[in-house]
Amino acid sequence: MASIAFIGLGNMGGPMAANLVKAGHKVIAFDLVAASRDQARADGADIAESSVASVKGADVVITMLPAGRHVLSVWQEVLPAMARGTLIIDCSTIDVESAKQAHALAAKHGVGSIDAPVSGGTGGAKGATLTFMCGGDDKAFAAGKPVLEKMGKKIVHCGGGGAGQAAKICNNMILGISMIAVSEAFALGEKLGLSHQALFDVASTSSGQCWSLTTYCPVPGPVPASPANNDYKPGFASVLMVKDLTLAQDAANAAGAATPLGKHAQEIYKAFDAAGNGAVDFSGIIQHVRKLAGK
Ligand code: NAD
Repeated sequence: MASIAFIGLGNMGGPMAANLVKAGHKVIAFDLVAASRDQARADGADIAESSVASVKGADVVITMLPAGRHVLSVWQEVLPAMARGTLIIDCSTIDVESAKQAHALAAKHGVGSIDAPVSGGTGGAKGATLTFMCGGDDKAFAAGKPVLEKMGKKIVHCGGGGAGQAAKICNNMILGISMIAVSEAFALGEKLGLSHQALFDVASTSSGQCWSLTTYCPVPGPVPASPANNDYKPGFASVLMVKDLTLAQDAANAAGAATPLGKHAQEIYKAFDAAGNGAVDFSGIIQHVRKLAGK
């Protein structure tokens, strides 16, 4: 079994590290927050005094941090302390440019690297059912896959460095746009006197079918487990959707791609967030859509 350093033990990283312990790996964990370190200790990880201390002797280092600047800063600190030929994996959702810079840093230190953002949320992190979208060379991917398999059920090699982040933001741009589309359809159906169940029964088995409708339905009733039935408690908070749609727009601008609906979706979620709804599940956007009527 491998010796794995895990840095960033928040809502996602905490349960992911716990699953590596459960799988029999030796996990040396670190987070800036004492409560997160205590939880990881209770889950069976050894706790290091710093990021740098955690990576000493590690075969694999995993980071799960808020944004690109945190990842670059931690990788800059820990890479000089890592042995050549070991592996570093970043599972955070960050911008493609920072991911590429992180890969270049690792290469400079003779360390293999993968960007491996995830889909599946905190439920997937706890249940070890995440999807990992990976960018990196074949050797790094082959070395990282058995470790990622202990935290997820689907591990996809998307291409070279940065390709995992590219796949993640493209997927979440579809998600943001499709949730608004489904919400608009329900809001229109309400005005036309159509019941939620009738629209669901038709669209879920017709060409309007999509994940935002069938798994995360934004009105209560048709899909009992969707956050709409639980006062729109996340789930996936709207502030994270703003983050991902902004990463998609930054990437589109840098690459010269036209994403007019992605841009509009970003503006709509930003307005929802600015009205104090950042902590509301992203399917709560239907409330905002309803308010737009008549404006
Ligand atoms: P979080 O804020 O709960 O956890 C981040 C952790 O990183 C915190 O515990 C923080 O103390 C720690 N941290 C920050 N800087 C550090 C440093 N220098 N050294 C050590 N620890 C440091 O966030 P999260 O929900 O766990 O998300 C982590 C990443 O996963 C984000 O990039 C997010 O976009 C992505 N993500 C989240 C979800 C979700 O549903 N929460 C789903 C998919 C992807």
